Amino acid sequence: TSRFAEVQQGAPIEVFAVSKAFSDSTHQKKVNLSVGAYRTDEGKPWVLPVVRKVEVELAADTSLNHEYLPILGFDAFSTAAAKMLLGASHPVIAEGKVTAVQTLSGTGGLRIAADFLGHVLKYNTVYYSTPTWGNHRLIFLQAGFSEICQYRYWDAESRGLDINGMIEDLSKAPENSVIILHACAHNPTGVDPTQDQWKRIADVVEERKLFPLFDSAYQGFASGDLDSDAWAVRYFASRGFEMMSSQSFSKNFGLYNERIGNLVVVVKDPSCITATRSQLTLLVRGSYSNPPCHGARIVSRVLSDPVLFEEWKGCIKTMSGRIIEMRKGLRERLEKLGTPGTWDHITAQIGMFSFTGLSAKQSKYLGEKYHIFLLSSGRINMCGITTGNIDYVAEAINDAVC
Ligand code: PLP
Repeated sequence: TSRFAEVQQGAPIEVFAVSKAFSDSTHQKKVNLSVGAYRTDEGKPWVLPVVRKVEVELAADTSLNHEYLPILGFDAFSTAAAKMLLGASHPVIAEGKVTAVQTLSGTGGLRIAADFLGHVLKYNTVYYSTPTWGNHRLIFLQAGFSEICQYRYWDAESRGLDINGMIEDLSKAPENSVIILHACAHNPTGVDPTQDQWKRIADVVEERKLFPLFDSAYQGFASGDLDSDAWAVRYFASRGFEMMSSQSFSKNFGLYNERIGNLVVVVKDPSCITATRSQLTLLVRGSYSNPPCHGARIVSRVLSDPVLFEEWKGCIKTMSGRIIEMRKGLRERLEKLGTPGTWDHITAQIGMFSFTGLSAKQSKYLGEKYHIFLLSSGRINMCGITTGNIDYVAEAINDAVC
C-alpha cells in the first residue's frame, strides 16, 4: 500500500472551483462573476498598455540577464513601492523608519509577515474581519498561529460596516494580537471605514497595544486615486504605530501571474532595521530563496518614470471607471425591474467586488439556471459584467430574488 493512501482529500478552494465550473460550461451566455481579476468590456483579461510598452523595452535591452535577485529582492522596486504606499514625503520615510522587501505578491507578503510575527516576535493571535478574503485564515494557520480570531465587520441589515461591533471585538483582543486590516476596497464587502471610523480603530489598536497588519491589494482600485486609497495606511504611520503592510501589484498593474508584491515594515527605531532585515532574509531563504524579477522590473520602471507613471494612472482610471459604470448600470436595471429589496449598496460599495446580499441558495440557482457563476457568499466581481451581458445578469438576479 502507498504511504499516500492515508492522505485525505482537501477542501476545494471555492474561487478556483467556481471558475472551473465556468470554464467547463458550454452555455452561450455563461458569465464568470467569481474570480478577482479585471476584465475589459469584451470580457477579456487586460494587459495594461504601459506594461506592454515596458515589456517591449525590456525584451530589447540586451544588458539584462536572468541572474538571481538578492534574497530580499530588487531594492529599487521595494523603495519605489513603499513610497507609493506611504507617500514619498511621509515623515516615517524621511526619519529612516521604513524598510521594505520584495515578496511573492500580496499573498507572499502576508505569509512572510505572518512568519516573522509568529516565529521572530512570537505573536500567536491574529484577528481578521468577518467576512474577509478567504486566504487570511489559511496563511496564519500555516504560519503556526494558534489563536485565529475574527472581529465583526459586515452588518447584513444595513449592508454596511458594523463599526461598533468591530471596536468592541478589537477592544477585547489580547495585547500583541495581529489585526489584519484591508487598506482599501475591502474584499469581499466593498465597504471601507470612513476617516473618522479609522481614527476610532487606531485608538483601540493603540489602547490595546495591538499590531496592525495592512493588506493593500487594491491601491488605486477603490477611488481611482493612489493617495486617497492609501489614506488609512498613511494615517496609522503618522500616529507612530509600528506596523506592516503587504502590497500586491496583481490588480493595479494586471500582473497576476508575475507574483509581484512588497512587504513594508515601519519601526519606531531605525536601528532595529538591520536585524529585522536579517531575520526576513532567513525566512525567505528557507522558503523560496529569492523572488522573480520580471514584475519588479516593470513596476519599478513605471513608478520611477514620470511619463510612464502618468500613463499607468490613466490605466487605473480606466479600470476603476469601468467598474463604477457597471455598478450604476446593474443598480439601475434592478431598480427598473422592481427586484425586491434595495440595491443602492451596489453603487455605494467600492473596489472590484460587490457583496450583493444574494444568499448561497440564490447564488447556486444563478449558476445552475443561468450559468452565471459567483461565490456562495453572494460576492460578485463587477468586472465580470459587461455592456454585452448586463441585461442578462440583471434579469437573472431578478428571477433569483423573486
Ligand atoms: N489580499 C486581498 C484582500 C486580496 O483580495 C488578494 C487577491 O485576491 C490578495 C491579498 C493577494 O493577491 P496576490 O497574491 O495575487 O497579490
